[in-house]
Amino acid sequence: MTRRDSAKDRRQCFREHHKFDDRGVYMTCHICGGRIEIAVEGWEAEHVVPHAFGGTEVFPAHVKCHRQKTSEEDIPRIAKSKRASEKHFGIRRKGANWPKRKFPNYARDE
Ligand SMILES: [Zn+2]
Repeated sequence: MTRRDSAKDRRQCFREHHKFDDRGVYMTCHICGGRIEIAVEGWEAEHVVPHAFGGTEVFPAHVKCHRQKTSEEDIPRIAKSKRASEKHFGIRRKGANWPKRKFPNYARDE
């Protein structure tokens, strides 16, 4: 996702998607379908078609949903390297044995 969350996009997004009801002004998150209470929750204007591909349509999404979508869809799609896919499928682990492997020479020091 292009990091281009400009005020212009947010304004356009708000103008096109906000609604009113007895609880106030809200928008609908296009990722989870839930209500965004714009007075209290963070939201982001997301380009459904990446802006790099000429997308101009913006839809509102919770910050949380947007971040999740970005990490689960966009990043794997972009990161084609072996390293990234190994990590994605749990082959590489950031787990417990890391420090030992990181300093393999310490035992040799006599
Ligand atoms: Zn959401």
